[in-house]
Amino acid sequence: MKFHMPTSVIMDTDCVVKNKAIFEKLGKSCMIVTGKTSAKINGSLDDVKKVLEANSQEYLVFDKVMSNPTIDIVLEGASIAKENKVDFLVAIGGGSPMDACKAIAVVAKNDNATKEIFNYRYNGLILPSIFIPTTSGTGSEVTQYAILTDDTNQTKTTLAFDYMFPTYALLDPKYQTSLGRKTTINTCIDALTHLIEGYLSIKASNLTRDLSIYGIELIASKFDKLLKFDLSLKDRETLLEASTIGGMVIAHTGTTAVHSMGYSLTYFKEIDHGRANGLLIYEFLKLIEIEYPETIKSILDALKLAKLEDFKEVLDKLLGEKENITIDELKNYASIAIKAKNIKNSIINLTETDLYQIYQNVFIKEGV
Ligand code: NAP
Ligand code: FE
Repeated sequence: MKFHMPTSVIMDTDCVVKNKAIFEKLGKSCMIVTGKTSAKINGSLDDVKKVLEANSQEYLVFDKVMSNPTIDIVLEGASIAKENKVDFLVAIGGGSPMDACKAIAVVAKNDNATKEIFNYRYNGLILPSIFIPTTSGTGSEVTQYAILTDDTNQTKTTLAFDYMFPTYALLDPKYQTSLGRKTTINTCIDALTHLIEGYLSIKASNLTRDLSIYGIELIASKFDKLLKFDLSLKDRETLLEASTIGGMVIAHTGTTAVHSMGYSLTYFKEIDHGRANGLLIYEFLKLIEIEYPETIKSILDALKLAKLEDFKEVLDKLLGEKENITIDELKNYASIAIKAKNIKNSIINLTETDLYQIYQNVFIKEGV
């Protein structure tokens, strides 16, 4: 068993302003990588600026990262970081700014990196970084993955090296009180799928399985509050802890077929990442249950649910009405997903027909 978690994690209210020394020791100047709006509203950007100014550190703000970040935005951010010779990066936001920041941290250290971002031969250097998640979903603050939109292959592709873990993750749930119902639910489902898929990965160890069960229990304890969208700061803290644990799990296990299949729903239909996974997970679990009923029982016990259909009921309530997608579109998605590396991570073997069947069971209503 190998367990590698080089990111230093601090979870505490006001942990950004309480940890000025962490910023100070990473260098004289930094670039903050964030999205267009939310960091300006939820107080995270102000807190970071306050700390940098108190430390007399120079900074610039790159606030252009969109959801499902592109290769172009990474190249643009990296060239600004290089031009300004920044010593370190600070990522603020959901998975999109965090993933973009991770890729920028690598590309900025490689002089000739190009659009061939997934195939470039990198030199192994990376800018140090501080990650501040403002959603409880991806766990990107503790993973070595940067997931980018890949137009060549019409999907999302992962850039990953062991040295890509952020240096620090600062977790403060107060930045998440501004999250609306939809993003709160979708990101929480993303975290839940990381924990469940990690449990069902061929790379899972006893340690990651224990982490998965703990994280699943944390999220399940908030199902009612999520449904009512009645979350206190303490509840947000629990969800943030669970999503970071989910990141620690997938850093070791990878994700599985659910994520590989979800990427098409995001790429072609702009369905939010967590929602895409949530739509697919029940049908995936049903297939696994045929061969591994005891394994599914362990997950259901952690969810405090008696049977898989009860989980479907919870997910249906959280996700609401499903999108309309045609049979031909779903066939195309299955043909793309079968090529994804993570399909082979699942503890069962899946064929393209299985993937199509999962999509069909989710999206094609009986009798149509
Ligand atoms: P996101 O795309 O980062 O953010 C979604 C939306 O939420 C944006 O409009 C953002 O606004 C807003 N937002 C963020 N924090 C907010 C806050 N505190 N209050 C109000 N609004 C807020 O969503 P995400 O689900 O966190 O990340 C999804 C991405 O992560 C996908 O690209 C996915 O593939 C990737 N992912 C990565 C990993 C990994 O291990 N690296 C794992 C799973 C998924 P602004 O744009 O204005 O900030
Ligand atoms: Fe995910």
